[in-house]
Amino acid sequence: MTAPSYPLPFGVFSVGAGRPRVGVAVGDHVLDLAAALDDPVFDNTTLNPFLARGPREWLAARAALQALLNSTDSEIVARRERHRIPIADVRMHLPIDVADFVDFFSSLEHASNAGRILRPGEEPLKPNWRHLPVGYHGRAGTVVVSGTPIRRPWGQSKAPDSGAVHYTPSSKLDIEVELGFIVGAGSPLGATVGVDEFKQHVFGAVLLLDWSARDIQAWEYVPLGPFLGKSFATTISPWVIPLDALTGAEVTPVPQDPPPQPHLTGTAPFSYDIGLELRLNGHLISAPGFASMYWTPAQQLAHMTSNGASLRTGDLYGTGTISSWDKAGYGSFMELTWNGQQPIRLPGGDERGYLEDGDVVTVSATALAPDGGRVDFGQVSGHILPARSTDTDPGFAPSLPAEQESA
Ligand code: MN
Repeated sequence: MTAPSYPLPFGVFSVGAGRPRVGVAVGDHVLDLAAALDDPVFDNTTLNPFLARGPREWLAARAALQALLNSTDSEIVARRERHRIPIADVRMHLPIDVADFVDFFSSLEHASNAGRILRPGEEPLKPNWRHLPVGYHGRAGTVVVSGTPIRRPWGQSKAPDSGAVHYTPSSKLDIEVELGFIVGAGSPLGATVGVDEFKQHVFGAVLLLDWSARDIQAWEYVPLGPFLGKSFATTISPWVIPLDALTGAEVTPVPQDPPPQPHLTGTAPFSYDIGLELRLNGHLISAPGFASMYWTPAQQLAHMTSNGASLRTGDLYGTGTISSWDKAGYGSFMELTWNGQQPIRLPGGDERGYLEDGDVVTVSATALAPDGGRVDFGQVSGHILPARSTDTDPGFAPSLPAEQESA
């Protein structure tokens, strides 16, 4: 009989008024790693110092933990019992100090839908899309941990059929269901990281909610891409799933036509079969599958460094909205409601085009574990607070009237 293999998601937790520190989730407990492994690298408020040690040390720590958890030696059993805390008693924190944040656009279904919605009458995919993983640099400082309230942003927008430009709270607040990959080991400036070197640099994956104000985005994104329609907040799940726990979920990627250029081609390409579920106020809305993604996480990493840009510990990149095959797998309300024109009906009769104040969005995911069980990503969630107003926030001056005619 082989010993059980634990997925061992890494996170940063605190108890009461105690200082945050690193732990792994084991069932319904958190194991306090600095104490259990007697290693001060885990007595930190982020995972970064541990991640910076690199892949050999990541695997060594996992091996030590598997041994600790499978041991029947009474002293070791006592040690692990002493340093475990019920998960219900801990508070989870942002697991990493985010260095740079990049977000991609790598689902063929999502990119095609977004093109049809934002540029009706045109070819949905731009000519570059099948040649490189399109992406943009986001805002690292506004990445927050699951559970952080999301305030509806203000911003400029213009209806397509009107010349008037408004500065108002967004009326098209949306989410994008994504995975995020976390770079542990950096790379020097001027070097490139190949597709095959993915596991030498990336530590693990999280769930990622890319909050998106579609009305702000539609007006601002030409010609330099997403900016304030995205940068107000991005939420990630507190538990980082190490790539080593996802080997059972590796699958052959979808075929790419035309074949990618040599620097975006690996010798043994793989993606991940990860099943996600999107819920609004507790109701299941869709179930995107990550295996449908056109560009793989390894190709995204290789592309990001293909000009010699360096990687740093704590870099986070989002895969882009995961929309698979049909409406049952769409990963944004823009697609699910076709830009609000076909609202979805919730049990109880409520309808939604885009998100309303008070709404709670939750995404969960699982994948096949190497031992045949399931790896649980836990969940990422956020609830919508009303936009700032001069009534509730006297310091906020939106310079109304917020309207001007453009020439
Ligand atoms: Mn996105």
